[in-house]
Amino acid sequence: MLLKAMQALGHWRRPCSSYGFSALSLSSPSLGRGRGSSPSPRFPAFSVRRRHRGSGAVRARATALSGSSPDTAHSATPVGIQTSGIVKKINFCQWCGGPTKHEIPDGEEKMRAICTLCGKIAYQNPKMVVGCLIEHDNKVLLCKRNIEPSNGLWTIPAGYMEIGESAAEGAIRETWEEACAEVEVLSPFAQLDIPRIGQTYVIFLAKLRNPHFSPGPESSDCQLFALDDIPFDSLAFSSILVTLKLYVQDVKNGRPRFHYGTINKRPGSSPSDIRAYTLDYHLQS
Ligand SMILES: [Zn+2]
Repeated sequence: MLLKAMQALGHWRRPCSSYGFSALSLSSPSLGRGRGSSPSPRFPAFSVRRRHRGSGAVRARATALSGSSPDTAHSATPVGIQTSGIVKKINFCQWCGGPTKHEIPDGEEKMRAICTLCGKIAYQNPKMVVGCLIEHDNKVLLCKRNIEPSNGLWTIPAGYMEIGESAAEGAIRETWEEACAEVEVLSPFAQLDIPRIGQTYVIFLAKLRNPHFSPGPESSDCQLFALDDIPFDSLAFSSILVTLKLYVQDVKNGRPRFHYGTINKRPGSSPSDIRAYTLDYHLQS
């Protein structure tokens, strides 16, 4: 569908050719929708206390073993989390097309869309975004986005994981679609949760199987950047900024680590202000 839309808009660019994945499986919108599983070393010990039973906006309090922003490491301050985020209003049942009502089902705490005909409940769950941080000759491969949102800004190859593929397979596929690059996944690098918009990023370190890359349909440019030349003022998303900052920090400290963290945008900030965030629950191997 995306392919047809791009053709119609005159934005069609030749897809990357000949690869193990279907070059025409371009249904993944690559972060184009909405707003931004790896082994983990340690996860925070959450102690959840319900405050407003029966409320659509259940608050929970969690205590992390350690937490930090990208710039300050290991503050051990307990942080309150808000479990509500942006959810879509669903007016019609996705199974039978019947009209929905919005109620809190028995035994649950969140408002759900419930079909008035077949009774099925439409649960909305986070989406997983998978991508590759590609190292080559002490540089990283970035793509300039050729689609909204953040058209013209730089990102690592990443997009929504598809049903039927693993996170690593999805990251490899997205890299092929956006950078026409064949990569080998080396290790998990980061899991970054963005609760407010219901996304989790899983980023892998990867290397090029060969030195060839070029912009795919969703990119206008692809380049290798030395770490000192990364365009930090022209990045597409907070998640990419966090990923690259953590990576540069790790390289300077001698080795990449595995990072887990939660990206929380500052209340009232513009979605385009990618620096208006805090990285909470930051854990690293
Ligand atoms: Zn229904």
